[in-house]
Amino acid sequence: MQQKILSCKNISGAAVLVTGGAGFIGSNLVEALLACGCRVRVLDNFATGKMSNLAGVIGNKNFELIAGDIRSAETCRNAVKGVDYILHQAALGSVPRSIKDPLTSAEVNILGFINILFAAQEAGVKRVVYASSSSVYGDSPILPKVEEKTGKPLSPYAISKAVDELYAENFHNLYGIDTIGMRYFNVFGKRQSPDGAYAAVIPRFASALIRHTSPQINGDGSFSRDFTYIDNVVYANLLALNSNNEAALNQVYNVACGKRLTLNELFAVLKKELSQFDREIAQIEPVYAPERQGDIPHSLAEIEKIRSLLGFEVLFDAPSGLHETAQWYFQNLS
Ligand code: NAD
Repeated sequence: MQQKILSCKNISGAAVLVTGGAGFIGSNLVEALLACGCRVRVLDNFATGKMSNLAGVIGNKNFELIAGDIRSAETCRNAVKGVDYILHQAALGSVPRSIKDPLTSAEVNILGFINILFAAQEAGVKRVVYASSSSVYGDSPILPKVEEKTGKPLSPYAISKAVDELYAENFHNLYGIDTIGMRYFNVFGKRQSPDGAYAAVIPRFASALIRHTSPQINGDGSFSRDFTYIDNVVYANLLALNSNNEAALNQVYNVACGKRLTLNELFAVLKKELSQFDREIAQIEPVYAPERQGDIPHSLAEIEKIRSLLGFEVLFDAPSGLHETAQWYFQNLS
């Protein structure tokens, strides 16, 4: 993609560590970085990531894999050696997972992040771009979400991401390390796992529809989200690495499309897309279940800040991203 190529020019040849690189977002970042001419190292403990996500890059001479845990300071110190930039994606996602096991979420998402940040500043890494989350907006009713106005976090997961942002700012002030926080809004696309109790809504719906079962919608389907196709997220990360705008550093950004779909609308679009491959899918209706604890009713991002400071633009809106994604799930799950 032309925009992605343009956003690579300053990082071609650089060494980049992708933590969580065997996961959904991380593995898509790895591919894009290799296409940019970077040398890429992944640090992942395969808690939720999969070796199969890296199948296309194993054996590439510019790719290296470290199987290890960010909760180990020593592992992080080894992983950052010789690295110019870090894209920190490793974390335990999912609000329900963090409610069930807040301690492990905190250990990985907070202490693991501190390990990476501290090792990065010791090793003189130029910039750490890290995955934050729209969940930091918590109970704030304001729509669209503007970076400066967060609310009270509603889950241990949201707290972990809010705390990460505080550490990033504090470590910049204390040690001078440059960071950029990416508040992802409901990312979807190829390789997002449909497996397990903590799967995200789009892979859950897609896998149920392909198996001819009714997907479960929590609540009445009126909750809405700024669903963001993976290519937009990859593009935002490349811009963050590549930027030489001083004012763009040590900031947090919404990474989203600036539009939202309700869960009922999402279901309808995905069903229509998948019905192109299998007509029986058109007959399937969802089942409705109680709302989940800790869920935010509505989420919609203002994306002016990332546009103006990093030059971001939306490459795929949600319906065109769902078109690509439905095809991928149909090919890989049916
Ligand atoms: P994912 O679960 O597919 O990827 C996370 C990766 O981190 C996995 O490969 C996992 O094995 C790895 N990991 C977990 N614990 C680790 C540890 N202790 N040491 C080393 N590696 C570890 O999830 P994803 O959707 O790709 O999310 C990537 C990042 O983006 C996460 O930080 C997540 O919180 C954040 N995020 C994702 C979304 C989304 O919609 N997918 C939204 C907001 C924020």
